[in-house]
Amino acid sequence: MSKIKIAELFYSIQGEGRYMGVPSVFLRTFGCNFKCAGFGMPRGKLSREIEDIASRVHYYKTYEELPLVSTGCDSYASWDPRFKDLSPMMESNGIVERIMEILPHGRWEDEHLVITGGEPLLGWQRAYPELLDHPNMHGLKEITFETNGTQKLTAEFKEYLQRWRAQREITFSVSAKLSCSGESRDEAIQLEVVCEYEQVGTAYLKLVVATEADVEEALWTVDAYRQAGFQGHVYLMPVGGVESVYTLNNRRVAELAMKHGLRYSDRLQVPLFKNEWGT
Ligand code: SF4
Repeated sequence: MSKIKIAELFYSIQGEGRYMGVPSVFLRTFGCNFKCAGFGMPRGKLSREIEDIASRVHYYKTYEELPLVSTGCDSYASWDPRFKDLSPMMESNGIVERIMEILPHGRWEDEHLVITGGEPLLGWQRAYPELLDHPNMHGLKEITFETNGTQKLTAEFKEYLQRWRAQREITFSVSAKLSCSGESRDEAIQLEVVCEYEQVGTAYLKLVVATEADVEEALWTVDAYRQAGFQGHVYLMPVGGVESVYTLNNRRVAELAMKHGLRYSDRLQVPLFKNEWGT
Protein backbone atom coordinates (compact mmCIF):
# COMPACT_ATOMS: atom_id res chain seq x y z
CA MET A 1 0.00 0.00 0.00
CA SER A 2 1.43 3.42 -0.92
CA LYS A 3 1.97 6.09 1.70
CA ILE A 4 1.95 9.88 1.59
CA LYS A 5 3.59 12.19 4.13
CA ILE A 6 0.73 14.41 5.23
CA ALA A 7 1.33 17.83 6.77
CA GLU A 8 -2.36 18.67 7.18
CA LEU A 9 -5.72 17.11 6.35
CA PHE A 10 -8.70 19.32 7.06
CA TYR A 11 -12.10 20.51 5.90
CA SER A 12 -12.66 24.19 5.13
CA ILE A 13 -13.82 26.62 2.47
CA GLN A 14 -11.55 27.12 -0.51
CA GLY A 15 -10.38 30.71 -0.12
CA GLU A 16 -8.53 31.20 -3.41
CA GLY A 17 -8.95 30.93 -7.16
CA ARG A 18 -11.61 29.24 -9.25
CA TYR A 19 -13.29 27.35 -6.38
CA MET A 20 -13.38 30.24 -3.90
CA GLY A 21 -16.22 29.59 -1.43
CA VAL A 22 -16.58 25.87 -2.22
CA PRO A 23 -16.50 23.47 0.77
CA SER A 24 -13.31 21.50 0.34
CA VAL A 25 -11.12 18.84 1.87
CA PHE A 26 -7.49 19.95 1.90
CA LEU A 27 -4.78 17.33 1.72
CA ARG A 28 -1.49 19.10 2.35
CA THR A 29 1.45 16.92 1.39
CA PHE A 30 4.95 17.32 2.78
CA GLY A 31 7.86 18.53 0.64
CA CYS A 32 8.61 21.43 -1.69
CA ASN A 33 11.41 22.34 -4.10
CA PHE A 34 11.23 26.03 -3.06
CA LYS A 35 11.42 28.15 0.11
CA CYS A 36 9.81 31.42 -1.04
CA ALA A 37 11.58 33.37 1.71
CA GLY A 38 11.13 36.63 -0.23
CA PHE A 39 7.35 36.95 0.31
CA GLY A 40 6.43 40.05 2.30
CA MET A 41 10.05 41.25 2.38
CA PRO A 42 11.69 44.29 0.81
CA ARG A 43 13.05 43.35 -2.64
CA GLY A 44 16.28 41.38 -2.39
CA LYS A 45 15.81 40.48 1.30
CA LEU A 46 14.86 37.05 2.61
CA SER A 47 12.74 36.27 5.66
CA ARG A 48 14.38 34.60 8.64
CA GLU A 49 11.16 34.13 10.64
CA ILE A 50 11.19 30.36 10.34
CA GLU A 51 14.76 30.20 11.63
CA ASP A 52 13.55 31.41 15.03
CA ILE A 53 10.68 28.93 15.03
CA ALA A 54 12.96 26.08 13.96
CA SER A 55 15.33 26.85 16.84
CA ARG A 56 12.43 26.03 19.22
CA VAL A 57 11.00 23.16 17.19
CA HIS A 58 11.11 20.70 20.10
CA TYR A 59 8.51 22.83 21.97
CA TYR A 60 5.89 22.07 19.36
CA LYS A 61 4.13 18.72 19.62
CA THR A 62 1.56 19.27 16.90
CA TYR A 63 1.41 21.17 13.65
CA GLU A 64 -1.40 23.36 15.03
CA GLU A 65 0.84 24.69 17.82
CA LEU A 66 3.29 26.24 15.35
CA PRO A 67 3.30 30.04 15.05
CA LEU A 68 1.98 31.69 11.90
CA VAL A 69 4.46 33.82 9.97
CA SER A 70 3.97 37.21 8.36
CA THR A 71 6.82 36.84 5.84
CA GLY A 72 8.15 33.97 3.73
CA CYS A 73 6.12 30.83 3.00
CA ASP A 74 3.00 30.64 5.19
CA SER A 75 3.05 26.82 5.01
CA TYR A 76 6.72 26.49 5.92
CA ALA A 77 6.20 23.40 8.10
CA SER A 78 4.94 21.48 5.08
CA TRP A 79 8.40 21.35 3.51
CA ASP A 80 11.13 22.41 5.94
CA PRO A 81 12.84 19.18 7.08
CA ARG A 82 13.23 20.58 10.61
CA PHE A 83 9.44 20.21 11.04
CA LYS A 84 9.13 16.86 9.30
CA ASP A 85 8.28 14.92 12.46
CA LEU A 86 4.98 16.81 12.71
CA SER A 87 3.84 15.30 9.39
CA PRO A 88 3.03 11.58 9.59
CA MET A 89 3.33 9.07 6.75
CA MET A 90 -0.20 7.80 6.10
CA GLU A 91 -1.49 4.92 4.01
CA SER A 92 -4.30 5.58 1.54
CA ASN A 93 -6.82 3.71 3.71
CA GLY A 94 -6.01 5.91 6.70
CA ILE A 95 -6.25 9.07 4.63
CA VAL A 96 -9.63 8.07 3.18
CA GLU A 97 -10.93 7.08 6.62
CA ARG A 98 -9.99 10.52 7.96
CA ILE A 99 -11.59 12.24 4.95
CA MET A 100 -14.86 10.39 5.58
CA GLU A 101 -14.74 11.54 9.23
CA ILE A 102 -14.37 15.21 8.34
CA LEU A 103 -16.88 15.35 5.48
CA PRO A 104 -20.18 16.68 6.88
CA HIS A 105 -22.24 13.72 5.54
CA GLY A 106 -19.52 11.08 5.80
CA ARG A 107 -19.32 10.84 2.01
CA TRP A 108 -18.56 13.07 -0.95
CA GLU A 109 -21.45 15.28 -2.03
CA ASP A 110 -20.77 18.80 -3.31
CA GLU A 111 -17.33 19.08 -1.72
CA HIS A 112 -14.15 19.26 -3.73
CA LEU A 113 -10.69 17.89 -2.95
CA VAL A 114 -7.67 20.18 -2.89
CA ILE A 115 -4.32 18.45 -3.04
CA THR A 116 -1.88 21.09 -1.91
CA GLY A 117 1.49 21.46 -0.25
CA GLY A 118 4.34 22.06 -0.11
CA GLU A 119 4.46 21.02 -3.73
CA PRO A 120 1.98 18.15 -4.19
CA LEU A 121 3.35 17.05 -7.57
CA LEU A 122 6.83 16.54 -6.16
CA GLY A 123 7.30 12.86 -5.43
CA TRP A 124 3.73 11.83 -4.54
CA GLN A 125 2.32 11.41 -8.05
CA ARG A 126 2.85 7.67 -7.80
CA ALA A 127 0.66 7.47 -4.67
CA TYR A 128 -2.45 9.38 -5.80
CA PRO A 129 -4.03 6.70 -8.04
CA GLU A 130 -4.39 4.29 -5.14
CA LEU A 131 -5.93 7.04 -3.02
CA LEU A 132 -8.36 8.17 -5.72
CA ASP A 133 -9.33 4.60 -6.64
CA HIS A 134 -10.45 3.80 -3.08
CA PRO A 135 -14.18 2.87 -3.18
CA ASN A 136 -15.07 5.71 -0.78
CA MET A 137 -13.50 8.22 -3.17
CA HIS A 138 -15.76 7.32 -6.09
CA GLY A 139 -18.25 10.07 -5.20
CA LEU A 140 -15.58 12.73 -5.61
CA LYS A 141 -16.19 14.78 -8.74
CA GLU A 142 -13.66 17.62 -8.59
CA ILE A 143 -9.99 17.87 -7.66
CA THR A 144 -7.62 20.80 -7.64
CA PHE A 145 -3.86 20.41 -7.50
CA GLU A 146 -2.38 23.57 -6.00
CA THR A 147 1.06 23.56 -7.54
CA ASN A 148 3.97 25.91 -8.13
CA GLY A 149 4.01 24.76 -11.76
CA THR A 150 7.50 23.31 -11.89
CA GLN A 151 6.80 19.60 -11.67
CA LYS A 152 6.27 17.65 -14.86
CA LEU A 153 3.57 14.99 -14.75
CA THR A 154 4.93 11.48 -15.08
CA ALA A 155 3.64 9.57 -18.11
CA GLU A 156 1.82 7.09 -15.83
CA PHE A 157 0.12 9.78 -13.73
CA LYS A 158 -0.84 11.82 -16.78
CA GLU A 159 -2.49 8.78 -18.31
CA TYR A 160 -4.25 8.01 -15.03
CA LEU A 161 -5.60 11.57 -14.74
CA GLN A 162 -6.82 11.53 -18.32
CA ARG A 163 -8.91 8.44 -17.50
CA TRP A 164 -10.09 9.89 -14.15
CA ARG A 165 -11.16 13.04 -15.88
CA ALA A 166 -13.54 11.32 -18.31
CA GLN A 167 -16.58 12.20 -16.15
CA ARG A 168 -14.99 14.45 -13.59
CA GLU A 169 -13.13 17.71 -13.29
CA ILE A 170 -9.43 18.28 -12.68
CA THR A 171 -7.96 21.72 -12.06
CA PHE A 172 -4.37 22.85 -11.75
CA SER A 173 -4.13 26.04 -9.73
CA VAL A 174 -0.64 27.14 -10.72
CA SER A 175 0.98 29.63 -8.39
CA ALA A 176 4.06 30.30 -10.51
CA LYS A 177 6.61 32.19 -8.44
CA LEU A 178 7.63 35.71 -9.44
CA SER A 179 10.83 37.32 -8.17
CA CYS A 180 9.07 38.69 -5.03
CA SER A 181 9.08 35.06 -3.81
CA GLY A 182 12.88 35.07 -3.68
CA GLU A 183 13.09 32.12 -6.10
CA SER A 184 15.07 32.23 -9.35
CA ARG A 185 13.04 32.83 -12.48
CA ASP A 186 14.88 30.10 -14.39
CA GLU A 187 13.65 27.52 -11.94
CA ALA A 188 10.25 29.00 -11.17
CA ILE A 189 8.86 29.60 -14.67
CA GLN A 190 8.51 26.28 -16.44
CA LEU A 191 6.39 27.12 -19.47
CA GLU A 192 6.12 23.65 -21.04
CA VAL A 193 5.31 22.00 -17.72
CA VAL A 194 2.30 24.25 -17.18
CA CYS A 195 1.13 23.98 -20.79
CA GLU A 196 1.12 20.19 -20.39
CA TYR A 197 -1.28 20.45 -17.42
CA GLU A 198 -3.85 21.80 -19.88
CA GLN A 199 -3.82 18.43 -21.65
CA VAL A 200 -5.14 16.86 -18.46
CA GLY A 201 -7.43 19.45 -16.92
CA THR A 202 -8.25 23.11 -16.53
CA ALA A 203 -5.17 25.10 -15.57
CA TYR A 204 -4.99 28.70 -14.42
CA LEU A 205 -2.22 30.95 -13.17
CA LYS A 206 -2.53 32.53 -9.72
CA LEU A 207 0.27 35.05 -9.37
CA VAL A 208 1.07 36.46 -5.95
CA VAL A 209 1.91 40.16 -6.09
CA ALA A 210 2.37 43.10 -3.74
CA THR A 211 3.62 46.07 -5.74
CA GLU A 212 3.13 47.61 -9.14
CA ALA A 213 6.58 46.28 -10.11
CA ASP A 214 5.37 42.75 -9.27
CA VAL A 215 2.34 43.31 -11.48
CA GLU A 216 4.58 44.47 -14.36
CA GLU A 217 6.59 41.28 -13.95
CA ALA A 218 3.35 39.27 -13.80
CA LEU A 219 2.25 40.78 -17.13
CA TRP A 220 5.38 39.84 -19.05
CA THR A 221 5.42 36.45 -17.36
CA VAL A 222 1.86 35.86 -18.59
CA ASP A 223 3.02 36.86 -22.09
CA ALA A 224 5.72 34.20 -21.93
CA TYR A 225 3.14 31.55 -20.94
CA ARG A 226 0.82 32.70 -23.73
CA GLN A 227 3.61 32.48 -26.30
CA ALA A 228 4.27 28.92 -25.14
CA GLY A 229 0.60 28.11 -25.81
CA PHE A 230 -1.00 28.50 -22.37
CA GLN A 231 -4.71 29.35 -22.66
CA GLY A 232 -5.99 29.41 -19.08
CA HIS A 233 -7.24 32.28 -16.96
CA VAL A 234 -4.89 34.47 -14.94
CA TYR A 235 -5.53 35.67 -11.39
CA LEU A 236 -3.60 38.21 -9.36
CA MET A 237 -3.60 37.43 -5.64
CA PRO A 238 -2.30 39.71 -2.87
CA VAL A 239 0.67 38.62 -0.84
CA GLY A 240 -0.20 38.11 2.83
CA GLY A 241 -0.60 35.06 5.02
CA VAL A 242 -1.56 37.27 7.97
CA GLU A 243 -4.23 39.96 8.03
CA SER A 244 -1.85 42.87 8.74
CA VAL A 245 0.06 42.19 5.49
CA TYR A 246 -2.97 41.09 3.43
CA THR A 247 -5.00 44.22 4.21
CA LEU A 248 -2.07 46.42 3.18
CA ASN A 249 -2.33 45.37 -0.43
CA ASN A 250 -5.56 43.44 -1.22
CA ARG A 251 -7.53 46.43 -2.49
CA ARG A 252 -4.60 47.75 -4.53
CA VAL A 253 -4.08 44.33 -6.13
CA ALA A 254 -7.81 44.12 -6.94
CA GLU A 255 -7.60 47.53 -8.63
CA LEU A 256 -4.51 46.52 -10.60
CA ALA A 257 -6.22 43.28 -11.68
CA MET A 258 -9.16 45.35 -12.97
CA LYS A 259 -6.85 47.82 -14.71
CA HIS A 260 -5.12 45.05 -16.65
CA GLY A 261 -8.24 42.95 -17.32
CA LEU A 262 -7.06 40.07 -15.14
CA ARG A 263 -8.99 38.11 -12.52
CA TYR A 264 -8.57 38.87 -8.82
CA SER A 265 -8.25 36.08 -6.31
CA ASP A 266 -8.86 36.81 -2.68
CA ARG A 267 -7.43 34.78 0.19
CA LEU A 268 -10.71 34.31 2.05
CA GLN A 269 -8.99 32.20 4.69
CA VAL A 270 -7.17 35.30 5.94
CA PRO A 271 -10.12 37.62 6.78
CA LEU A 272 -12.44 34.69 7.66
CA PHE A 273 -10.14 32.49 9.72
CA LYS A 274 -6.94 34.53 10.23
CA ASN A 275 -5.20 31.86 8.11
CA GLU A 276 -4.96 29.58 11.16
CA TRP A 277 -3.71 26.06 10.56
CA GLY A 278 -6.53 23.86 9.35
CA THR A 279 -8.28 26.63 7.43
S1 SF4 B 1 6.11 26.89 -3.56
FE1 SF4 B 1 4.41 27.18 -2.12
S2 SF4 B 1 4.76 25.69 -0.48
FE2 SF4 B 1 6.66 25.84 -1.66
S3 SF4 B 1 7.86 27.32 -0.50
FE3 SF4 B 1 6.74 28.45 -2.10
S4 SF4 B 1 4.85 29.16 -1.14
FE4 SF4 B 1 5.73 27.57 0.17
